[in-house]
Amino acid sequence: MSALPVDMVDVSPAAPVGPVLRVDTAAVSANVRLLAGRTSAEVMAVVKADGFGHGAVEVARAALAGGATSLGVTSLAEALPLRAAGLDAPLLSWLNPVDADFATAVHADVGLAVPSLEHLAAITSTAPGARVHLHLDTGLARDGAAPQEWAALCRAARAAERTGRLRVVGVMGHLACADQPGHPANVVGRTRFAWGLRVARAAGLRPASRHLAATAATLTDPLAHHTTVRIGAGLVGIDPTGDGAGGLLRPAMTLTAPVVTVRRVRGGTPVGYGHTWTAPAATTLGLLPLGYADGLPRAATGQAEVLVRGRRRPVVGRISMDQVVVDLGDEDVRLGEQAVVFGPGDAGEPTVADWAGWSDTLAHEVVTGLGGRVHRAVAGTRVGLRSLA
Ligand SMILES: *Cc1c(COP(=O)(O)O)cnc(C)c1O
Repeated sequence: MSALPVDMVDVSPAAPVGPVLRVDTAAVSANVRLLAGRTSAEVMAVVKADGFGHGAVEVARAALAGGATSLGVTSLAEALPLRAAGLDAPLLSWLNPVDADFATAVHADVGLAVPSLEHLAAITSTAPGARVHLHLDTGLARDGAAPQEWAALCRAARAAERTGRLRVVGVMGHLACADQPGHPANVVGRTRFAWGLRVARAAGLRPASRHLAATAATLTDPLAHHTTVRIGAGLVGIDPTGDGAGGLLRPAMTLTAPVVTVRRVRGGTPVGYGHTWTAPAATTLGLLPLGYADGLPRAATGQAEVLVRGRRRPVVGRISMDQVVVDLGDEDVRLGEQAVVFGPGDAGEPTVADWAGWSDTLAHEVVTGLGGRVHRAVAGTRVGLRSLA
């Protein structure tokens, strides 16, 4: 029995272990440089959901190296580990229940978005000295204060500011349809945000940081940029508008898996649960040890492909929880050879966008859905196992 803690298990890079997810932090830095070059606003790197599944700390470091000047996450549970990892850039947390530990947030110098009068009251009473961004709903009816509550929120925030209990450093909104550049909701959202800023100023607030745009509007709508843009998907090479910023954003993730077994089957052999696919002729089937529990969308069944020995090969039969079968044709594949499930596409391998298309979802959902059994590696160096499952 090993006495090593899980995160110190040494995995030799040469050993054909299970599926490995490699994260290219240089791509993250390059994506930030590209996006920062398209705006005069500052870049807040949004590293929520573990940096869109790529590793929040690593993505944050790479984004700051590429020119981002602040970080954004949803909850304090996402914010505090960034501080614990030594990241000291301005950091904003925007999605917390009213009874969250705001005092700890202030202690860790985490900025707080304020979406309601109740949150404002909780913050002023439990966490004096907070740095806050008032959050206006600019068209999703989701997070952020409703327009009819906005003036009261601004007045209450100004009153708290006057007595020194908090500082309003920012105002934020979010666009519902920025991935569709011509959508009328974008004008509505921009207009509502501009109105929100006027109301804040009229209440006596002087928020230095004003932010509405995420990746899509950063690429397509300069009128939405204001002082700061919040970039999440774009950090890891996902373009919500679908054209990859003219193909310049670089996917930061490569997922590989070793061939565990191969078998020769006769024509007419049914494969997998439900026998949804039957080999039309004699062929070689390869087994890869990853499935929907690892984040491969089951809905991609019947369409997905992987790259083996430089060629696209179809995934056949249903995608199972833990494994998939690949039709290798007559290729003589050795056990332990690596299949590329997705990557940036340089060698012809599928991309995350391909997997999203095959499963009728977003690239965001694919990258954030990768499971804890997949070994993570950053910049080509394995950094241990997230799980020994
Ligand atoms: C996720 C998120 C972002 C980042 O959006 P992308 O489209 O991924 O760049 C920005 N702002 C808020 C409020 C978010 O929740």
